[in-house]
Amino acid sequence: MAREILEKVTMKCPICRETHEIEVVQEVKSTYLKGELAVCLLREHYCSNAYDTFETEEDKVLNEASMKDAVRKSRGLLTASEIVAIRKQYGASQSGLAPVFEETAKNRQNYCTL
Ligand SMILES: [Zn+2]
Repeated sequence: MAREILEKVTMKCPICRETHEIEVVQEVKSTYLKGELAVCLLREHYCSNAYDTFETEEDKVLNEASMKDAVRKSRGLLTASEIVAIRKQYGASQSGLAPVFEETAKNRQNYCTL
């Protein structure tokens, strides 16, 4: 899988325990989430001393959101970012979404339970 370097940061490395330049990388990965195969972008930090990767707290939050979106996509549901875009377009609050999306109203509970 292709690994893309997003940026380089100098920080204390939790793997080799030295302060050095670390690559922030993004990789397409497939993973099982709630029993479903999801393909998503995962962000990691790469230690070139240990040839190993680790996740910061920020990476974990971003990756979790990315995986949830990936599962929604694989189910043909709207992703969180798409819902936000549509809400803005219609100026709708969450409770105001139902009339706009009668078709998908039954799926709304899924968004909340994912
Ligand atoms: Zn390191």
